[in-house]
Amino acid sequence: MSKYVFVTGGVVSGLGKGITASSLALLLKARGYKVFMQKFDPYINVDPGTMNPIQHGEVFVTYDGCETDLDLGHYERFIDEELNYTSNITSGKIYSSVIEKERRGDYLGSTVQMVPHITNEIKNKIYEAGITSSADFVITEIGGTVGDIESQAFIEALRQIQYEKGSNETFFVHTTLIPYMYGSGELKTKPTQNSVRDLRNMGIRADALVCRCPYATPVSIKEKLALFCSIKKENIIDAVDVKNIYQIPLNLYEQKIDEIILKQFDMPIKKSNIKYWKDLVYTTEHLEKEVTVALVGKYIELHDAYLSVSEALKHAGYKYSTKVNIKWIDSESLENSTSSLDEIFKDVRGIIVPGGFGSRGIEGKIRAIKYARENNVAFLGLCLGMQLAIIEFARNVCKLPDANSTEFNPLCENKIIDLMLNQKAIVNMGGTLRLGNYECSLKKGTLAYKAYNCDKILERHRHRYEFNNDYTELIESKGMVISGVNDTSNLVEIIEIPNHKHFIACQFHPEFKSRPTRPHPLFDSFIKATIE
Ligand code: GLN
Repeated sequence: MSKYVFVTGGVVSGLGKGITASSLALLLKARGYKVFMQKFDPYINVDPGTMNPIQHGEVFVTYDGCETDLDLGHYERFIDEELNYTSNITSGKIYSSVIEKERRGDYLGSTVQMVPHITNEIKNKIYEAGITSSADFVITEIGGTVGDIESQAFIEALRQIQYEKGSNETFFVHTTLIPYMYGSGELKTKPTQNSVRDLRNMGIRADALVCRCPYATPVSIKEKLALFCSIKKENIIDAVDVKNIYQIPLNLYEQKIDEIILKQFDMPIKKSNIKYWKDLVYTTEHLEKEVTVALVGKYIELHDAYLSVSEALKHAGYKYSTKVNIKWIDSESLENSTSSLDEIFKDVRGIIVPGGFGSRGIEGKIRAIKYARENNVAFLGLCLGMQLAIIEFARNVCKLPDANSTEFNPLCENKIIDLMLNQKAIVNMGGTLRLGNYECSLKKGTLAYKAYNCDKILERHRHRYEFNNDYTELIESKGMVISGVNDTSNLVEIIEIPNHKHFIACQFHPEFKSRPTRPHPLFDSFIKATIE
């Protein structure tokens, strides 16, 4: 039977609940336990797939094709496990499933209510995660801040779980803020006290606090919080601001949060193999070299919109003891910029064009790709980045000036990137992309083969359009190499240009599979090329 650890948040959003949850999971895993993670998001969207990345940050995709919150990326990177459809549940998912059951007549004449119907649905998702993963610990993060209207049903479901299972099977971690008051020079506990009381008003007793604070809190603060919040002093943990998120598990480990949880559950405190993580953090803090690469995108005002890409770049840098700086370039500004591209790219050693949707900024990205191709600058294209690399090649090398994707110009003559038949019939936007894992066979002797060093790979997808195979012969005759293909559908997965420093692009999203201790092969080869 799984034990359940819940992570709630108080005072303000953006405290690092996701990183706290990931760190707890990492520490329990390091002690030899099996962990599983999930996140509840209180918004009404069924998933974040249809949301604007500027509002919500990147959409993270699981191997089984779920479009999820970006915190799941942190989870996977910290615990190095692949999560699945039980890992991200929104209010939208809960409500639609309850309404579907009501329409089917499953509730046999009852009035369908928040309690018990919605709360049961929520509880089932938590228990389902335990059953399907058979993990020792299911760690569930509740998005938003305690007190939000949207999250009340989730908090009520957790209250019921705490009541049903007791403290031998549940552990509640509440993350809060201890602000520092300039002027008086004090740390203030009142917001935390109020937030713990809000939680208690909803019937939940927190077992531990993780307090975000600018520096380690003195004992007097912990004693005060312990008294006012009825939480043992040693269960009040500092989460001191850090520059490097990978440091956080070590900070929590030093304060023994994993031991505190295991003790409450009467579970053996096995030896921790945390050394591998300490080594990683040591590496991240002793990087000997530096390199700058350009990321040309249209959502760059919110760096979280490219979170997994920027993490994947860092991971590859760690392998080569290199700090990777990202020069964020707005693709739209490249369209009519008066400065020359030589000027814009003069300090970068590589160009990356990540995924995206819609026509804004497309021509700017194509200009950047042309620049990389013609000037032998290392290039990595991801998803949309691959589609645009082929369009650029078709226009400028194959001399098809109107080549385009039907996403941007449905009437163009040369539909190099187009919808497959099965996508043409689709009306709904949500959840209907080509999503999740698809296999790809690699062609021997190519850059892709060299990077992965194997014949077949599995990568995660999130796109609607595909390369149009009517143009295979043409692009190949002009020197573009198709180095990865899905054998079942014959869809193109990877393209590259030989006799170039490093020019490769893929239809999938390799960034989702990169880990801090195990960089993704394509990011690895890209960063390697930038420092050679
Ligand atoms: N807009 C493109 C498509 O839907 C690319 C998507 C992406 O980059 N994730 O195919």
